[in-house]
Amino acid sequence: MTHLFDLSDKIAIVTGANTGIGQGIAVALAEAGASIAAVGRSSMDETRSLVEKAGARFHEIRADLGTIAPVASIIEETQKAFGGLDILVNNAGIIRRNDAVDFTEADWDAVMDTNLKSAFFLAQAAGRHMIAAGRGKIINIASLLSFQGGIRIPSYTASKSGLAGITRLLACEWAAKGVNVNAIAPGYFVTNNTTALREDQDRSAQILARIPAGRWGDPSDIGGAAVFLASKASDYVHGTVLPVDGGWLAR
Ligand code: NAP
Repeated sequence: MTHLFDLSDKIAIVTGANTGIGQGIAVALAEAGASIAAVGRSSMDETRSLVEKAGARFHEIRADLGTIAPVASIIEETQKAFGGLDILVNNAGIIRRNDAVDFTEADWDAVMDTNLKSAFFLAQAAGRHMIAAGRGKIINIASLLSFQGGIRIPSYTASKSGLAGITRLLACEWAAKGVNVNAIAPGYFVTNNTTALREDQDRSAQILARIPAGRWGDPSDIGGAAVFLASKASDYVHGTVLPVDGGWLAR
């Protein structure tokens, strides 16, 4: 039976899938039936076992997305392993914290290269294939910092605001070609990315007090939005940045 959210026979690349939000997304796509090409620089063993437990195929691609050097080979290896490409989730990302007056060029470049440059060029490479096929789904992992300024994370805010803009640009260019480009903006999630925030008791309490849902997000909270944006259910959704934030932006 055809189901709006069914991803059987679909092939998905998920970057940064070894942990946190990327792992949550990989597992949710796998549970919906997708084969997962997991891209990252660390061991994917835990994600492999969760994906295979869901009954889906798994292929690990070791790559450092601090540069765009591995982009072409990521697409080639996915096609070689699974015979196609239907879904790209640009999730890999880093954050560097420092006051704006002290922020270094190295911390600017590292974050922009990983979070924005690699995401764009991976979308470009995947998009070429998807446009030729006349269909495809690209999901960029944005942030509340795609909407808000934040403090002490200038390159992160620039990269995530840029990623929201690139999501809209690609949607405008590719919507008529059958390719959906959208983003998810996670709120505050319990992952490695937020360890420093959660260790700062004052900041952590301030953040929690503003979340209408009354709790931080768990990586398992993000999968539903990813399955929606990867599936037929979102065929007429283009260029949106969907917050999954416990109501943070509604406050
Ligand atoms: P995380 O646990 O730190 O995960 C980040 C992922 O990106 C890891 O898999 C990491 O791999 C990978 N990665 C980083 N640099 C890489 C590189 N050069 N090459 C390949 N992979 C690289 O944090 P997370 O919260 O799950 O973050 C996932 C995404 O969600 C990021 O884009 C982040 O900005 C975004 N986000 C997170 C939150 C939140 O509250 N946690 C909120 C909004 C947006 P390694 O483990 O090998 O470093």
